[in-house]
Formats: sequence, C-alpha cells, structure tokens
Amino acid sequence: MDCNVIMDLLPLYADGCCSEQSKELVETHLKSCKMCKQAYADMNEGGFCDSVNIKPPARIGKISQFKASVLQSVLLFLSFAAITLGVTFEAMTPMGRDNGNWAYMLIVPATAFMLSLVNWYFVRFYKNRSVFSTCSAVITFALALCGYVWAVLHYGDFTSYYAAFGIGLAVSVALSAVSKVLSLLYAKAIGKE
Ligand SMILES: [Zn+2]
Repeated sequence: MDCNVIMDLLPLYADGCCSEQSKELVETHLKSCKMCKQAYADMNEGGFCDSVNIKPPARIGKISQFKASVLQSVLLFLSFAAITLGVTFEAMTPMGRDNGNWAYMLIVPATAFMLSLVNWYFVRFYKNRSVFSTCSAVITFALALCGYVWAVLHYGDFTSYYAAFGIGLAVSVALSAVSKVLSLLYAKAIGKE
C-alpha cells in the first residue's frame, strides 16, 4: 500500500469519518509501517495539544462573560434608576417654566445612555472593539440629540430651558465618554479583538 494514500486517509481515520474498508486498510498499514504510525501518533498529539490549549481560555472567557453581563445589567439598572428619579422630580415640579428642567438635565441623557446599551448586543458585528466603543459613544450622543428634539417639541418654549439644556448637553457628552470607556471594557471582557 502506498504511504501517500494512507497519509491522505489518516485525517479522516483520526476523525472516524472514513468507511469500514478504508479503516481496515489504514489499520493494517499502520501495523506494518513505522513512518505512517508515527505520523498518526503526531496527529493525535497535535489534537491533544489543541484541546489543552483551548480549554483554559474558554474557562477564563466564561468568567469574563459573566463579569460583562453583570456590568451590562448594573448599567441598565443605574440608567433606569436615573430615568425614574428624573421622571419623579419632573412630576413633582409644577407645570410651566421649570417643568421640563429634569427632562433636559437628566431624563434625556439617561434614556439615551440606556437605549445605547442595546448596541452592546450587536458587539460581534463590529470589526474590532475600538470601532465598537466609538460607535457606542456616537450612538449615545445621537440618541441624546434625538431626545432633545423630542423635549423641545414636548415642552415648547425652548428659551426657558437654555440653562437646563446646557447642563443636559454636558451630561450627555460625559455619558458618551462613559459609554466609550465601558463598552471597550465590555468588549475586552467578552474577548473581542
Ligand atoms: Zn506507510
């Protein structure tokens, strides 16, 4: 039997994917040929090394993935708490001039941040984590701007809210920066390049 034919069959044989006939052929040959026997042993050794090398990172990956989920949940909870707080304050403030202050300063930025967390579910579609984190920051800020358009339409008389809008915009910029840093950490934790 030609060793080359056996060498071709060996990977299939090792995976248990070849026919009974080929299996017998390989086994008979391996008994008589040292070279092919060694090649088969090397192949198995390689497979063993692969599984040894893969296991530890997979275990670390699981722990990191847990941490990443915790981070995501905590952020979701905190932004939801901030929105609730803002809505409560807004409801407590009498209708009129000051009514929308809480929306401009807290509700809009916090909502934008919370909604931008949805992007984190799509982390695998990004080329790398730096692109992902930049996009997360941009999305946070873009959502805040959308929120301000809604706020202007909802509360009217924008001139009453210049100060609150200024503070809210600063908060939005800060949250966009937070979004960039934390999404990068998140991507790192789940092992994104
Ligand atoms: Zn051989």
